[in-house]
Amino acid sequence: MDLKSNHSSPVFTDPVHLSKSRLGLPSNIAPYSTAAQPYSSSGLCLQIPRRKVGKLDDVRASGWLDAMKSSSPPRKKLSKDLISESQSDETDAAYLTWMISCPSALNSFHIITTYAKCKSVVLFLDYDGTLSPIVDNPDAAFMSTAMRAAVKKAAKCFPTAIISGRSRDKVYEFVRLSELCYAGSHGMDIMGPLRESEYVGDHPDCIRTTDEQGKEVHLFQPASEFVPMINEVYKSLLDITKNIIGVKVENNKFCVSVHYRNVDEKMWEEVGKHVFDLLKDFSRLQVTHGRKVLEVRPVIDWNKGKAVEFLLESLGLSHRDDILPIYIGDDRTDEDAFKVLRDCNRGFGILVSTVPKETNAFYSLRDPSEVQEFLKSLVRWKNSASSQTEGSTATV
Ligand SMILES: [Mg+2]
Repeated sequence: MDLKSNHSSPVFTDPVHLSKSRLGLPSNIAPYSTAAQPYSSSGLCLQIPRRKVGKLDDVRASGWLDAMKSSSPPRKKLSKDLISESQSDETDAAYLTWMISCPSALNSFHIITTYAKCKSVVLFLDYDGTLSPIVDNPDAAFMSTAMRAAVKKAAKCFPTAIISGRSRDKVYEFVRLSELCYAGSHGMDIMGPLRESEYVGDHPDCIRTTDEQGKEVHLFQPASEFVPMINEVYKSLLDITKNIIGVKVENNKFCVSVHYRNVDEKMWEEVGKHVFDLLKDFSRLQVTHGRKVLEVRPVIDWNKGKAVEFLLESLGLSHRDDILPIYIGDDRTDEDAFKVLRDCNRGFGILVSTVPKETNAFYSLRDPSEVQEFLKSLVRWKNSASSQTEGSTATV
């Protein structure tokens, strides 16, 4: 199923509480204009209404097998041996046409940095398919040493957070950088800096704890009540899919991922049937689609977009006019974050994709290697801007 053409979230259709446009992007950075929404401080990000129990999501209502297929496009074959020249030309032409509305962040780098000149960049990064390649075995989605170095340098220059569908512990195991904030389970498990804020510190789902280095932090888990239910579903899914070759069921603490990238396509229907049949008994859980993965998640109004708002608040940046949040991700779940940034006209999303997609992102990058190049370019730009400022100060 394609994303809706009106740029709304593919799954969560609840209106997003948006901040007033204080960072209006100039027309040369925004491929198309956005409408600013009224600001409501009371409706920032920490009100988490439970959605109406039993409401079918749009994916479920419109045919889950079609959704499984359309949300799992084949990886683009770059070899001329595997794709004819005319097909290749056609694919490239479609991609180039798409890039008119979603230009390359590398090619547009000078525009981005011109706009970022008087602002503080804040980086939000997805993990799978963004920092690491999509691989057959989800447990082997390691990031390269070069990518880790690029992320580490970026995090020294800019506040940086990783927001992943994986469990927070799992994504930390992959990344192993203490300089970052981590949000796992699609933002339902956020560890961020300690901050005295009525929105963060006083929230019932937020507790003080210590991180791996013994530093005091806030831990925000808006779906904590769902953990026993998620564990039960995880065990059931393990059992009922055990005879399907290639299925991988992953417990991400606040959600369960059912990976089918190694399953014969003829068996996808059976995978989906097992998942959706089981979920009939769990009206407080829903299924969303990622790249060859079904995600079983609590029915709460929380997603990666809300996690971005929460992290900005945690970092003490949400009310600053001089920040430029940039979110880089490849998945449909990242669209919620792209949408938040687009709708509140505050920063922008960058979609990682080798194929044209309907998206709320402003810019695109083809693959993790381009993400790495973009991060390195940002660091070079920041360091050169800082040294120029120091130089001009020294000559005054
Ligand atoms: Mg991803």
